[in-house]
Amino acid sequence: MKFADLGLSDELLRAIDESGYSEPTAIQAGAIPSVLMMRDIIGIAQTGTGKTASFVLPMIDILAHGRARALMPRSLILEPTRELAAQVAENFEKYGKYHKLSMALLIGGVQMGDQVKALEKGVDVLIATPGRLMDLFERGKILLTGCNLLVIDEADRMLDMGFIPDIENICTKLPANRQTLLFSATMPPPIKKLADKFLSNPKTIEVARPASRNENIEQFVVKTSERGKRDTLRGLIEAEDMATAIIFCNRKTTVRELAKSLQRHGYKAGEIHGDMDQSSRIAELDRFKAGTINILVASDVAARGLDVKGVSHVFNFDAPWHPDDYVHRIGRTGRAGAKGRAFTLVTPSDDEAIDNIEKLTGYKIPVHGGGAANPASAPESDKDAREPRRSARRAEPKAARGAKRAAEKPREAPKKDAGRRPAPQARPDDDDGADDGWNGPMPSFLSVGFGT
Ligand code: AMP
Repeated sequence: MKFADLGLSDELLRAIDESGYSEPTAIQAGAIPSVLMMRDIIGIAQTGTGKTASFVLPMIDILAHGRARALMPRSLILEPTRELAAQVAENFEKYGKYHKLSMALLIGGVQMGDQVKALEKGVDVLIATPGRLMDLFERGKILLTGCNLLVIDEADRMLDMGFIPDIENICTKLPANRQTLLFSATMPPPIKKLADKFLSNPKTIEVARPASRNENIEQFVVKTSERGKRDTLRGLIEAEDMATAIIFCNRKTTVRELAKSLQRHGYKAGEIHGDMDQSSRIAELDRFKAGTINILVASDVAARGLDVKGVSHVFNFDAPWHPDDYVHRIGRTGRAGAKGRAFTLVTPSDDEAIDNIEKLTGYKIPVHGGGAANPASAPESDKDAREPRRSARRAEPKAARGAKRAAEKPREAPKKDAGRRPAPQARPDDDDGADDGWNGPMPSFLSVGFGT
């Protein structure tokens, strides 16, 4: 199958060709012709499958004719996090360079004024996180009645983050006879219900989970102890032929502490997590992409879906709580046909998490036996690791920990709709798109006209 067989315009085919892609991926081949025929779609696919282009490409052709009116976007893409929203915007820039479409990004952490200005000019494509979109809608700064095409991306992650009521609400504000495309890595019952309610006669396209079946990623668990984790990690980094790595932690505080510890040990390490404002996250990612740092310590939400080429290693400093997160984490390596290695540090308390991962992926992860990487009994040399253990906190139920963290976190500007959205399900690094007070300059992609 060739891109030329999918019914896309010559301008788009040129832009695709210049991106270096020769063949459509399975989700692209399955979705693009149907989207062009204005059908509703359920795409069961996760990041790494090429799903972004499967909606961006046909959308560009669909929107090529017609004009945007002030405050009335012609299409809406809902994303759970700022990073994913920014990545979709980059896709529109890349593939839409021979079209004259305008887009705006509505995400938390950037000044609302600039976003409103972009909306007032009229946009063909609006990419938004649900929280910020609802804020602007309730302030009367946006009308969704001209929005005939809706994309709900990463629906299962939206569910995890407590966004489903917002999404239902948003769906009711759009014209009833719109086209709706829903993408989700899995279809748990609430997502199925959402699809039944808001999609009309959808075509379902399901593609293989890339990470669990990606033979290019070698996976290992590495046994260690809670106190030995940092030694184990450094041992692995030294023993591996590592170009660039993303190291995942379950908590934002662990991300911060581990990045500092690695820096003290002479590594070029940076950090990315949900407490950082948008400009800092972008700056840190740019440093990683440019090679100024070659280790990025990350939390799940901040790093989800990140598409950085050439990541040779993923280390799970903490075994993830949700098995789906494991699949997403290791999928940051072994991309575009490259080889990758993924290591998960496990302590005795992680047995259940590993069991759940193995059940989900249907793959028994081998135990890594490398000498340098077996310091379950290694001496603890990192002074930070001698901090008192937080065993008492670990014993708390997850929901209680989440609620506590939320309560402890100082909020610079209370959200006016606080209480409207149900509390997210105790994820440690939820990114609800809330305005976290960033007043820096607006990144260039936040409001751009793209094309010739
Ligand atoms: P996504 O699943 O949208 O996050 O895309 C994953 C990666 O696949 C990104 O790096 C895309 O640029 C890349 N990609 C998208 N379409 C293709 C294609 N047809 N062939 C090869 N790579 C692609």
